[in-house]
Amino acid sequence: MKFKASIAAIVLLVTPAFAQTPAMDASLQSLLANPKVVKTLDDIKADDARALEEQKRITEIPAPPFKEKVRAEYFLKRMQELGFKDASIDAEGNVIALRKGTGGGRPKLVVSAHLDTVFPEEVDVTVKEKDGVINAPGIGDDSRGLAALLSLFKAMNENGISTVGDLLVVGTVGEEELGNLRGVKALFRDHRDIDGFISIDGLGVSRVVNQSTGSHRYEMIFKGPGGHSFQEFGLPSAIHAMGRAIAKISELQTPAEPRTTFTVGTVRGGTSVNAIAAEARMAVDMRSNSTEELLKLEEKLLGLVKQAVVEENARWSTDKISVEIKLIGDRPAGIVEMDSPIVQATQRAVSTIARGPKVTFAGSSTDSNIAMSLGIPAVTIGGGGEGGNWHSRNEWYKPTDAWMGPQSALITVLMLSGLDGVSKPALAVRQAAK
Ligand SMILES: [Zn+2]
Repeated sequence: MKFKASIAAIVLLVTPAFAQTPAMDASLQSLLANPKVVKTLDDIKADDARALEEQKRITEIPAPPFKEKVRAEYFLKRMQELGFKDASIDAEGNVIALRKGTGGGRPKLVVSAHLDTVFPEEVDVTVKEKDGVINAPGIGDDSRGLAALLSLFKAMNENGISTVGDLLVVGTVGEEELGNLRGVKALFRDHRDIDGFISIDGLGVSRVVNQSTGSHRYEMIFKGPGGHSFQEFGLPSAIHAMGRAIAKISELQTPAEPRTTFTVGTVRGGTSVNAIAAEARMAVDMRSNSTEELLKLEEKLLGLVKQAVVEENARWSTDKISVEIKLIGDRPAGIVEMDSPIVQATQRAVSTIARGPKVTFAGSSTDSNIAMSLGIPAVTIGGGGEGGNWHSRNEWYKPTDAWMGPQSALITVLMLSGLDGVSKPALAVRQAAK
């Protein structure tokens, strides 16, 4: 009996996914046959050069973590110029515009890109160009996403594309580093009726993020008495304790699947070469595509740090070294199943637009983490073009087939939200969280 029941349960689970496939294929075909959609796709391609100029302009407006305001105001102005008269900046700093559909508000899909960069204020963000390659900190991450977003909605608005579901167009703050996804956290706190989430973050179009890499980051501050290296020899050292900890951390083993990683990213400490260090601090990054593995790693690593302190104290028969462990980053892990409509729609859109390259699915840490951790279907898609050296001052971008970013975003959005009179939304309406 049990056996039969479980087979029935499996059939029930699997059937909707299979049933959905022909419906989604039909919806894709009717969208691609629609003259308005064809015209919108053409307009996006024709907008390519202008979108690139926009991307450069955005890049040159600095947007350090927690200081995205000037860029947010520019983005708001551009949204208003595109016809989003009610666009505004919310309490957290996100730029938000509601694009109403014909279906009474649902499903509601967020289409977003992030405003912030990793670069502090003093970094020169002037765009430089050489032999078709554009160099500037942040040129791809995520100026491309913002430019793709504007290009997409420019074409949709100009062509009067009317979706069934509502779209919430958002420029988010705090995606990078210590921003800890504060923008999207606020978005989901303030809007309980979101049914799906798309972030345009990354380049090309063939890489789709449907898994969110969780991360925990710590600052660890080792403290001791400190003293003269010669006169007070015999006292324990904060730096030596930290060194012991780093040596232990270096030997940790983590699984390749689900990918789980760690690094001691920065170290600081001591005041002088001839002093036993009174203080040393390090920042540690741990990531995994699985929450379980992340927590396992974290438990082990924190244990090693405490053990290092015990050993340094034991070495000098004292208890004067201590460590303060501060959580400075917390991003949840999550996964959106392959048969979920948002993944299916994205996969179809990308293969339609990009033709050649196969769609690859990956895990990453993006704004989608928060949606995924809340059980809200989400993907992070590429804005088009190619590039590299992210988060470095040598970041580069090349606008190869860049228009494919906003084009595949268009098809994904239309499949999920439905095109009025042409196709039904593939995105399901969720029970709103109470
Ligand atoms: Zn990014």
